[in-house]
Amino acid sequence: MVLGMIKEHGLLIVISGPSGSGKTSITKILRETEANLNFSISATTRPPRPDELDGVDYYFFSEVEFQHKIEAGEFAEWAVYGSHHYGTLKKTLNDTLQSGKDILLEIEVQGAIQLRKLYPDGIFIFIIPPSQASLEARLRNRRTESEDDIRRRLLIAKSEISYINNYDYIVFNYDNQIEKAVENVRCIIAAVRCRVNRYILRQIQKEFNL
Ligand code: 5GP
Repeated sequence: MVLGMIKEHGLLIVISGPSGSGKTSITKILRETEANLNFSISATTRPPRPDELDGVDYYFFSEVEFQHKIEAGEFAEWAVYGSHHYGTLKKTLNDTLQSGKDILLEIEVQGAIQLRKLYPDGIFIFIIPPSQASLEARLRNRRTESEDDIRRRLLIAKSEISYINNYDYIVFNYDNQIEKAVENVRCIIAAVRCRVNRYILRQIQKEFNL
């Protein structure tokens, strides 16, 4: 037996941050480089962007489908963001965590607060841009949203930042330094993976005849 391989349970890692904070890009880099991390695919009623695929970026549901799943209690958390619903299916989380694997979710703050109650041992990371000006510039440069949408997202961004106290860690994403932000997230995950309560202590005691 190799100690360290056997975990009590998988780790739930939540990344939030305002639209334009860079959290999606950070998550994308982690997705490409972290083989030991599973990534939660959310459900949404938002229409897919041109480069997005159903079942890869999101599960794209109609309003009716989403409502049915809410009523059936299928969501671990859900929230309204802009004019659309977003949510994490319980099945997505349970399948991964119960097999001892870690899962990373990129979700907005209302959903994160709901998950904090369900998973008090989870790790909650907030990504923040270095300034209001930088946030606005990033949203405009994306050119995927209408002016109305950008204004709405800026307002939501302010309210999201006001929830920062609900998180354990803050990672600043400075302009053109995304790798630094990614590295900080990696370090946080690495530290939390070493927590004593993640390991099955009786197996360590047995191995060393304690
Ligand atoms: P976007 O439309 O830009 O893909 O996402 C809008 C917001 O919804 C982002 O803040 C994103 O993190 C959040 N989001 C994505 N999936 C979920 C989810 O499953 N639950 C919640 N609560 N928020 C989500």
